[in-house]
Formats: sequence, C-alpha cells, structure tokens
Amino acid sequence: MIQNLPQLAAITLEKLTELTESWNIPRYRAKQVLQWRNKGILNPDEMLNIPGELKERLSNELICEPLQLVQRQSSIDGTRKYLFKLTSGRLKGKMVESVYIPEEKRGTVCISSQVGCVLDCPFCYTGTQGFEGNLTAGEIVAQVLAVKHDLLNEPLASEFSPSITHVVYMGMGEPLANEDGVHQSLEALMNPDGLKLSKRRITLSTSGLVPQIDRLGEATSVNLAISLHAAENQLRDELVPINRKHPLNELRQCLNRYSLGKQRHITLEYVMLDGVNDRDEDIESLARFVNRERERVNLISFNPYPGSGYAGSSKQHMNEFAKRLISKGIRATVRRSRGQDIMAACGQLKAESKPHKSES
Ligand code: SAH
Ligand code: SF4
Repeated sequence: MIQNLPQLAAITLEKLTELTESWNIPRYRAKQVLQWRNKGILNPDEMLNIPGELKERLSNELICEPLQLVQRQSSIDGTRKYLFKLTSGRLKGKMVESVYIPEEKRGTVCISSQVGCVLDCPFCYTGTQGFEGNLTAGEIVAQVLAVKHDLLNEPLASEFSPSITHVVYMGMGEPLANEDGVHQSLEALMNPDGLKLSKRRITLSTSGLVPQIDRLGEATSVNLAISLHAAENQLRDELVPINRKHPLNELRQCLNRYSLGKQRHITLEYVMLDGVNDRDEDIESLARFVNRERERVNLISFNPYPGSGYAGSSKQHMNEFAKRLISKGIRATVRRSRGQDIMAACGQLKAESKPHKSES
C-alpha cells in the first residue's frame, strides 16, 4: 500500500543506504541523495549528480514529494504563508499550511501536525475546521524542506536571515495527539544526517496532554510551550477543553517533571481575550500557578477571524498585564504578531479546500 512506502523527507541515511544496496547501487549514492534532500530538493529529477536508474527507483519505491505547493502569500513584514496539498496516502487532496517568519538573525518555520484538530478550543480558527487526520513524519518534515526550497529559489530581502534556524510546532493541529508522526519527525529534524537541528531550536506547543508531555520529555525534551490561556480550572475548562481531562494540578505536576537544560524554560502561552482572561483575578491565578524558576508567560494578542465571537485585549492593556505579572516576579513578554494581514498568525490557520488563485 502506498502509505507504507518510506518517505524521502524523513528517511535516515542508514535506511536509505540499505535500500540503495538492495538495488545494487553503491552506498555513497545514498549520501548524495540526502545532500539534495537536506537542501530542500525532494524531486529526484532535480538531483543533478544522480544516475537515472536511482532516480527511477526513488520515484517508484519512496514517497518523494508528499506536498504540492498550491499557494504562497507574502506579508508586508516578510512572513510567508504556504498552502500545501497532500499528494498521497489517506489524506490525499487535503490541505495544510506552514508559515516562515524571518527576523534579522533567525528564521522560524511554523509547521502543522494534523489536518484540523479535535480539541475545539473556542477561540481557535483551526479548531472550527473539525478533524481530518494525522500527518506522517514525512509530511511534517517536508513542510520545512519545502520552505527551504522556496527560500533558495526566491530569497528574502537582505535584512532578513536567509536560513531556517528554528522550527515550531504551532501550526494546524495538536502535535501530541499525533505522537507517532511528531516523534518521528522530531528525530528526522534533529538527525545528524538530516537537518541537524538542535533540540534547543525546536519548540512544540501543546494544549496540555499530560501523559504525552511526559513521553515527549523522555524521548527528546525539545522546548515546550503550553497553551495555558487560563490558570484557574473553571475558565480553562471553557477555553482549553482538554483541561476537563487533564486539569491544572495534573498539568502542574507534569510541567515540574519536564526535563530542562540550563538556560531553558517552559513557555506558557496566554492569548489575551478582552474581559475573559485579562482581569485582576487572572493575574492572581497566574501568580499562584506559575513556577517562576522554570516558566515564562508569553502574552499573545488574539487574532480575530470571521465569526470568532471574542475580542482581543488592547495593546495597552496587554502591556499593563505583563507589567503586573513582572511585578509579581513572573517573567512575562508580549508576543509580536506576524503575518496578520495574510491570516498567518497563531490560530488563524485553516486550510481551505478551495484555495484562491495562486500567487504569481
Ligand atoms: N494545538 C497546539 C498548537 C497549535 S496552536 C496548541 O494548542 O498549543 C498554536 C498557539 O496559537 C496556541 O497557543 C493556541 O492556543 C494559539 N491560538 C489559537 N487560536 C488563536 C487565536 N485566534 N489567536 C491567537 N492565538 C491563538
Ligand atoms: Fe487544537 Fe491548539 Fe486550536 Fe486548541 S488551540 S483547537 S488544541 S490547534
């Protein structure tokens, strides 16, 4: 079955060497293929120094290009949003989105882990889409490679970092509800024969699936971001419904166990909703909940979307809220929102099945 074919985007050198040897092709060829792959080139026909026979084997016996770029939008702030169509497997024809966020000294790719999401947080655009399925490791890693390819073909303005230095699992879906795909994709991103990203440069955002966070800590302990959004159970039950299954005391214990290196911290994401979770009492709940030694609060402005039913707190109020947290000894920052004009910001990702006209 096509789903079981190995994925070029996530394959290890060891496994690819095994395959090339079984095709009677010298082992050094596997290395050459991965050099192309790591540059973002997944189409065997574009791998210039590879013999025709190997190109054919790769095309027939691996899934080489799991994503087809359907649309790319560029924001006035340099952010690029990509819409991909899945080309194979169970989710063939469905769409996913990824975002590239350039800064002066770093370049971050925000990737999706699922098509849609089951968890239904009421302020989240992706949540309104319903759940379609989990991405494979190849489909997850291919998002990073596709962005790399695009940056090679069409470099950004020179004030921005031209390379991908960070990856965040903050696109569509709940990454820890897709443990197989996500764990394998993390290994592939960190593999010394792959993109060689260090775990310090990868951040996974989760709404708080406790046993899965424990397993992530044991497996890779990449940077962790938690969608907290409320530090008191009644409100969090409403804003992040998974809280009914894993309430705050359980999450608290779990975060205290998560393995952190020196200088590293857990990010607590907090989307500021006017009159909902931005009140005085919310500062008090946060002050009771946050572990000041190990955690930072990142205040996110709410990204509205048609029919959302919430309003974001004002910039001024967010700054004030941050100041008050800081006065209580909590490290708090306000996140600058990027790509808002092209709906590329947090929680705005929702791949439409009928995409607009491609950017020329
Ligand atoms: N499912 C994971 C990761 C994807 S969402 C999670 O929930 O953590 C990435 C971040 O965007 C989360 O913190 C999420 O709560 C936040 N988010 C969702 N909808 C948003 C919106 N409309 N405005 C701002 N942030 C939003
Ligand atoms: Fe899913 Fe995260 Fe959106 Fe909640 S915020 S619905 S967990 S993608």
